[in-house]
Amino acid sequence: MYSIRRKLSIIILVCSILAALLTAIFVNITISNKFSEYMVNTQNKRNDRIVQYFQEVYKRDKKWTATSGSEMKHEAYMSNYCITLLDSNKKLVWMMDPNDIKEKEHFKSLDGKNGVFTTNSFQIKYNGDVVGYVQIGQYSSILLSADDVNFKLSINKGIIASIFLSLLIVIIISLYISKQFSVPIRDVSNVSVKLSNGDYNSRTNIDTDILEIEKLKISINTLGEKLNHQDLLRKRLVSDISHEIRTPLNILQNNLEAMIDGIFPVNTEQLIGLNDEVIRFGKLLNNLNTLKEFEAETISINKEKILLDELLSAVCDDFSIALKEKNIELIYNIRPDKDYSIIGDVDKLKQVFINLLSNSVKFSNYGGKVWINLTRDKENIIVSIRDTGIGISKEDLPFIFERLYRGDRSRNKIEGSGIGLTIVKDILTLHSASITVESEVGKGSTFTIRFMN
Ligand code: ADP
Repeated sequence: MYSIRRKLSIIILVCSILAALLTAIFVNITISNKFSEYMVNTQNKRNDRIVQYFQEVYKRDKKWTATSGSEMKHEAYMSNYCITLLDSNKKLVWMMDPNDIKEKEHFKSLDGKNGVFTTNSFQIKYNGDVVGYVQIGQYSSILLSADDVNFKLSINKGIIASIFLSLLIVIIISLYISKQFSVPIRDVSNVSVKLSNGDYNSRTNIDTDILEIEKLKISINTLGEKLNHQDLLRKRLVSDISHEIRTPLNILQNNLEAMIDGIFPVNTEQLIGLNDEVIRFGKLLNNLNTLKEFEAETISINKEKILLDELLSAVCDDFSIALKEKNIELIYNIRPDKDYSIIGDVDKLKQVFINLLSNSVKFSNYGGKVWINLTRDKENIIVSIRDTGIGISKEDLPFIFERLYRGDRSRNKIEGSGIGLTIVKDILTLHSASITVESEVGKGSTFTIRFMN
């Protein structure tokens, strides 16, 4: 296994070495070709110059002698080629010995093929007639002087130096770039390890300008928050359940003991009181059971056409006594002449409205108001249930749909199990509907359900 930093550095380095080598080879080939072209041109010009020189000599002397143009010998010797002068009948006038130049060190061939002596013959013309031939022979097709060789060497050295320099720069850049990746990823991965070890408070604050890593960082932090929250809920759940079970059990136990000891009389009134506790206990277990079914996804829904306006009216009627008891006014608004039909499970949706309406009544003070609005737009049928109740604090708001969550204000004062809204949300999810809540402490709450059309 490699670390990201090491892996990235190796990849960048290998790519750079390849790129540098390819560039070097390409530059070298191009320069060599151009250089050869240049040298061939120079040599052709030299040949032309030699021919021209002999033409001048003939023009001056009108004949060939053993010394015609012999001044050229020195230059030829120095420049490592041999000249042979022939007359118009190709008879030898004079020649240089190729062995004189064979062992000289300061000339090299461009193509590295030293040793094969080749000659080229050129005509010498005077007034349009061929008056002789000059043969130029050398031990390689193109001759290089020491300066030429040095020039080539220095170019190659330059290429090698630039390869090393660019590799050095690449190493520094690759270390920097890989650090940009590895440091935040390492940090995020450390946090995920801590989360998996149960340290749900662990978070990462590392700065990064890499979008994917930033997203990863945000999601790992969100995951941490959720795990932390779930952990709190789990702990709270255990204490809530034990509290909910312990309270009716204690009451039952105390009262029964008092009856056994003869402190309380065993009469109908006492027994009704005890029965209420048993009923409360039973309700809690029923709610837990319903929740368990939803969470095990074993619940099935019977789909049929439902007219939401009719269903809501029926639910409102069921609440008339409860509303009257707390003197709560119920205002029911329906935009008329619209189709409020949806496909769903009528019993389950009834449960949704009962839960919401019973919360509105439960959390409203005496003389409060509850509004039920039913409208529709192009995409949704919208049901909103608004009350002038105690409201929900900002801290509680994100969690009220969690199972067994009860707002701090209602926890000890108002009876409940913290399951109603979880069931509401689960049923609506089965109907592909959404629910949102807006609330202000002391002013009231509005629950809005959107059924997709
Ligand atoms: P329960 O009502 O049994 O406590 P719910 O799941 O129905 O459980 O509600 C969860 C919590 O949400 C409640 O304890 C309460 O704090 C808050 N809540 C729900 N509806 C309202 C409302 N209409 N007004 C104020 N608070 C509400």
